Amino acid sequence: MSRIELKNINKYFDHNHILKDINFVIEEGDFMTLLGPSGCGKTTTLRVITGLENPEEGIITIGEKEVVNGDNRFYAPASKRGLNLVFQSYALWPHMTVYENVAFGLTLKKMSKQEIRTKVESALEKMRIHPYKDRYPSELSGGQQQRVAIARAIVTEPKILLLDEPLSNLDAKLRLEMRAELKRLHRELNTTIIYVTHDQVEALTMSTKIAVFFEGNLVQVDTPRGIYRHPADLRVADFIGNPTINFVDASCTYQGGCLLTDSSLGRVAIPCETQHTGEVVLAIYPEDITINSEQVQDAIRCSVSSVLPAGSETLVQLTFDDTTTVLVKYMGETDYEIGSHVWITFPKEKVNVYDKASQQLIT
Ligand code: ATP
Repeated sequence: MSRIELKNINKYFDHNHILKDINFVIEEGDFMTLLGPSGCGKTTTLRVITGLENPEEGIITIGEKEVVNGDNRFYAPASKRGLNLVFQSYALWPHMTVYENVAFGLTLKKMSKQEIRTKVESALEKMRIHPYKDRYPSELSGGQQQRVAIARAIVTEPKILLLDEPLSNLDAKLRLEMRAELKRLHRELNTTIIYVTHDQVEALTMSTKIAVFFEGNLVQVDTPRGIYRHPADLRVADFIGNPTINFVDASCTYQGGCLLTDSSLGRVAIPCETQHTGEVVLAIYPEDITINSEQVQDAIRCSVSSVLPAGSETLVQLTFDDTTTVLVKYMGETDYEIGSHVWITFPKEKVNVYDKASQQLIT
């Protein structure tokens, strides 16, 4: 019923190619996040799904129904697509109170007053806006309005819910609470959710699937774990992770099966499952690197260039080979002296290897 499929979607604004041959499927019950930097086409993708924009080419089906066929210039009206959309700009009705805004969708469904009251009160409580139920939108902060917009969308228990940066105006604590709430709602209602954000932590926390966009291209669709562990190219790798992943240039030599030797890392050999040879980039997360105070096997000698305490963890910046810098996330406090020497090790299977020319993941 609520499976959504996009096939070869192309969208232009004037002569600018904004969506470039987008293909993906959102399965029923998915929490699919469209992720990518500002201007990459996330919102436009959401808008073509809802019918607020028409793509020049491609097909969109919702359930069994074709709602867009660019070749035939067929575009089903937004109201006929059975979708429920919450924008970053909340679009609340200014002449209605918070309560009336949230209740509005249910009054259209001709429910009893008591039933409406129970559902609205519950949605207001979930979004922590119960105390403001008699206020008008103009009497609320941006974050409060955003939560009213979400309450208004979830109260009707829609089959498909589309959310465009719905938490962007909340402070850090409330955003964390709302992420947990949205994740719980998704589980409870089994709603299919399409969620737009440029915040990779938000995407990794809530989604069952993530679609990563860059410059109008859909670069990777995978589970949060899949995206995190195996970013498809260097742009995705650079975008995911906080602090971001370390990149180290290396050269790969195929030797008797699976050896990758790297001049900049000295004699460290990293197993490489492909027969790829040539210039590569190794990518490794700061939390996957261990700092040793003494030399151990396969360790790389580094000097400490900065120590950045961050509460429960410390970020340690290290330099080796005079020019290569890596960041290490150390859980706890450390007191390494700047300029002192340490030795780093990391599990070889945690290293992703990218072809330097094509920027694509090799292994
Ligand atoms: P953000 O995170 O900043 O909202 P986004 O990934 O959602 O970005 P889109 O809003 O989809 O990006 O925009 C994609 C590109 O299309 C941008 O370059 C934008 O300037 C352009 N664009 C969007 N809407 C229009 C429009 N109505 N007319 C012309 N260009 C547009």
